[in-house]
Amino acid sequence: MKKLVSIVRVDESGIEAAVRKAIDLAGGLKEIITADSRVLVKPNLCWPGPSGTGSITDYRVTEAVTKIVLELGPKSVIIGEGSSAGWDFDSSHSTEEAFRVSGTADVARRLGVELRNLNRDTFEEVTLSEPYVMKKVRIARTAFESDVIISVPVLKTHLRTLVTLSLKNMKGVMPGAEKRKTHRLGLDKAIADLNSVVKPSYVVVDALAGMQGLWEYPQDRFELGLIMAGADPIAVDTAGTCLMGFDATQVMHLQYFAARQGTKADLSQVAVVGESVEANKQSLRSGFDVFKGRYPGVYIVEGESVCTGCIGELLGALQAVKKFGHDHVLTDLTVILGTPSPNEIAARAKTVVLGKCAKNVARFGTYVKGCPPMSDDMIRAICGVSSFDGDSVVASRNQDRQRRWQETRFLLKH
Ligand code: SF4
Repeated sequence: MKKLVSIVRVDESGIEAAVRKAIDLAGGLKEIITADSRVLVKPNLCWPGPSGTGSITDYRVTEAVTKIVLELGPKSVIIGEGSSAGWDFDSSHSTEEAFRVSGTADVARRLGVELRNLNRDTFEEVTLSEPYVMKKVRIARTAFESDVIISVPVLKTHLRTLVTLSLKNMKGVMPGAEKRKTHRLGLDKAIADLNSVVKPSYVVVDALAGMQGLWEYPQDRFELGLIMAGADPIAVDTAGTCLMGFDATQVMHLQYFAARQGTKADLSQVAVVGESVEANKQSLRSGFDVFKGRYPGVYIVEGESVCTGCIGELLGALQAVKKFGHDHVLTDLTVILGTPSPNEIAARAKTVVLGKCAKNVARFGTYVKGCPPMSDDMIRAICGVSSFDGDSVVASRNQDRQRRWQETRFLLKH
């Protein structure tokens, strides 16, 4: 039987009305939430970004979903998230900042609901009987003990997994170190394993605005003005993938998880109600497409097993060099990462080799150790092969970050 997914356009009635309509059209929550239910509402607050940027779940969608859940009188409701790998580590920013900056902390206060930082939860270790890559997975106890998990992702592309929707959103229930491990093991298979343990019970997608390409604001932000809902995460993610203009066969975690569930991630298996996918389809650009256009002078040799750890740090480093360095640094530059075979590599003058995975080809250029290497070290190496002062780029980048954080804190206080 086809799985139901609703797509609703936000009109003058507002976001809450659109969320209500989307949930109603997709079968409602009454069958799922009872008086005994402990409910976790899980937005995507991967970093401390403001609502409306398209990079995190808009607080207005989280608020509408939480209100609808509360009206059903469950035993308990928690809004929970653990921001990206690295957040909440000593000296990093925290999930609490993501709650505050996004407006989600105010939602919890207004509705009298507990807000929980899942990165600081206690954890339950679960053993998987037939894993793809993760024999054991640690899960925040809050998620583990919830009877109902409502995944509320924002619709956007992703540099490593092509898209990020409800299945990838579940990464927030893992501790930070475990999140990093998924990158090493293979993100798509790890997401499939994770969802075998904590699958969302229902999905409401914030498709008001999203991000494509390299998630640079504002140029990579796009507007859709839609809300999606459905009880089957595979069906919702399939429809969301198609809305972005990609084919579900390109999204490997969706394919792996569907295979595990004995089903298919295929739009022909989805009954879409409300707006149609075809009429609202975008042609979004993947991270690598945008990357190649913005950095035409950088040649990437990307071997197998390369993960978001190295890619994310590299992008941060290249953005800093572009902003605070000199054009000649990013001309005829070769970057090697992952585990390429030495036969794939031609010796070039300006080459940097990044990360533990690429250690066996370190001889081809300036090697930067780490897993992932620090982006400051990448900046120094990239500038160094062009005889440019990398320390000055690092200093300018750090000053700029400091200034932007002071501005953000000022805006939060006033
Ligand atoms: S070295 Fe880089 S690509 Fe390899 S696992 Fe570490 S972060 Fe990922």
